[in-house]
Amino acid sequence: MNLLKFSKYIISLILSSFIISKSVAQALNNSSQPNIVFIISDDHAFQAIGAYGGKLMPTPNIDRIANEGAIFRNSFVTNSICGPSRATLLTGKYSHKNGYPLNEKKFDVNQFLFSRLFQQHNYQTAWVGKWHLGNLPQGFDYFSILKGQGNYYNPDLVGTNNDTTRHEGYVTDIITDQSLAWLDQRDPSKPFFLVVGEKATHREWVPDIQDLGAFDSIDFPLPVNFFDTYNDRQAALHQDMTIETTMRMKEDVKVHLDYNTGDFKRLTEDQRVKIKEYYDRISNEFDAKKLSGKELAVWKFQRYIKDYLAVAKSMDRNIGKILEYLDQHQLVENTVVVYLSDQGFYLGEHGWFDKRFMYEESLRTPFVIRYPQIIKPGTNITRFASNIDWAPTVLDLAGIKVPNEIQGMSLVPLLKNRNVKNWNDELYYHYYEYPDPHRVSPHFGIRTPQYKLIKFYGAENGWELYDLKRDQSEMNNVIKSKKYSKVIADLKSKLVLLIDKYEDDEARKILSEEK
Ligand code: CA
Repeated sequence: MNLLKFSKYIISLILSSFIISKSVAQALNNSSQPNIVFIISDDHAFQAIGAYGGKLMPTPNIDRIANEGAIFRNSFVTNSICGPSRATLLTGKYSHKNGYPLNEKKFDVNQFLFSRLFQQHNYQTAWVGKWHLGNLPQGFDYFSILKGQGNYYNPDLVGTNNDTTRHEGYVTDIITDQSLAWLDQRDPSKPFFLVVGEKATHREWVPDIQDLGAFDSIDFPLPVNFFDTYNDRQAALHQDMTIETTMRMKEDVKVHLDYNTGDFKRLTEDQRVKIKEYYDRISNEFDAKKLSGKELAVWKFQRYIKDYLAVAKSMDRNIGKILEYLDQHQLVENTVVVYLSDQGFYLGEHGWFDKRFMYEESLRTPFVIRYPQIIKPGTNITRFASNIDWAPTVLDLAGIKVPNEIQGMSLVPLLKNRNVKNWNDELYYHYYEYPDPHRVSPHFGIRTPQYKLIKFYGAENGWELYDLKRDQSEMNNVIKSKKYSKVIADLKSKLVLLIDKYEDDEARKILSEEK
């Protein structure tokens, strides 16, 4: 090779490597089409998350998302149960608009689903884990979903070809492994939208073997209103979701378990030996104590919290694995990571487990999000957000126009700028499911930064008002207090405006019949 040819060769090498690295850089940094990892858990209470000030357990990986991105301090749901919250995620609409107000029905997957817009905009889409909408997913190129509610051990997963496969192991690990396997096989030249649907931390809270007893050395403090007597709160008085009465000894707190039922009949011999050893010891300790009344209620609370947190421990660890995968594959800069729960949960407040009520523990839900390209680390957002906003927010981040039929708002302005003015801090809520499984009377209402006004209808008919500045635990219904008559009138007119805005005909009819 003469000198001229050699220098041409070198120049072409430099040029081609420049072109290649430029195209790689474009693929990695095309900010108009970020990747999205959307992790939605089930019944995970903000009280159990460090980033929310929870003292019950450390959650380093969920906290990492918050620390490297943003945390929504006033994040709510519009109907606090599992399936309806997922239906709202998929449609960006209230239950009365997407036709899915109750659990355990068949969600109409032929309606507008926001994931279809990702498919139309060059995205690869997948849903892995809990779906639980009585139907197979639509709007996702790939899915591997738990059958129904799913099992903690050796769960059955239904795949894109409607084939069901049993996977040996612990559900949270399996969901992570399948999510990462899907990421491994994707086409790296196209962006992806992956939903990770966690089963954790849903009842009946069966921990991974390595986490059994992880919190047994801790005596957790009882919530101050654990022995609530529900004065002036008729719907709360007549519910069926207390730890003391409703929570079951065998299935929930696992005293003298029946290994021929539920999750336990699916165990391998090796798993059964280890789980049985642990719960036999608990059962023997319980028998020796001979508890009753309030002592028994407190003991059940301790058992419940310990298993619940142990299930959450596995989930936080698994979220860590997903974050590590993004670290190792240079996907941090151009990937939106969302962690949230389908709703909040009672960890003994008011004496309860479960959700449903418009009271704070179940109305609120954790919501943290990381996307280095637009969100400054440590962003703390106190403006209101709710689950109708989840779909429009990720669409907006992906540069996809949010359709008019979506009822929520993109939260991107809040993510970009901490001082957004004129944000509407008013939440409209509507819950339906009655009487089963927990006898929580249907209700709707409005929450503002200071107040919450609730209208119960059906079995328990009546209004409740809480002054959240003075009564954070919602123990004093001040609806009859003359001092608040002006506040009540103002909130009722705002409530009517929200009912009109969201076109909730049923609520409108209930109010008109009251006059
Ligand atoms: Ca749930």
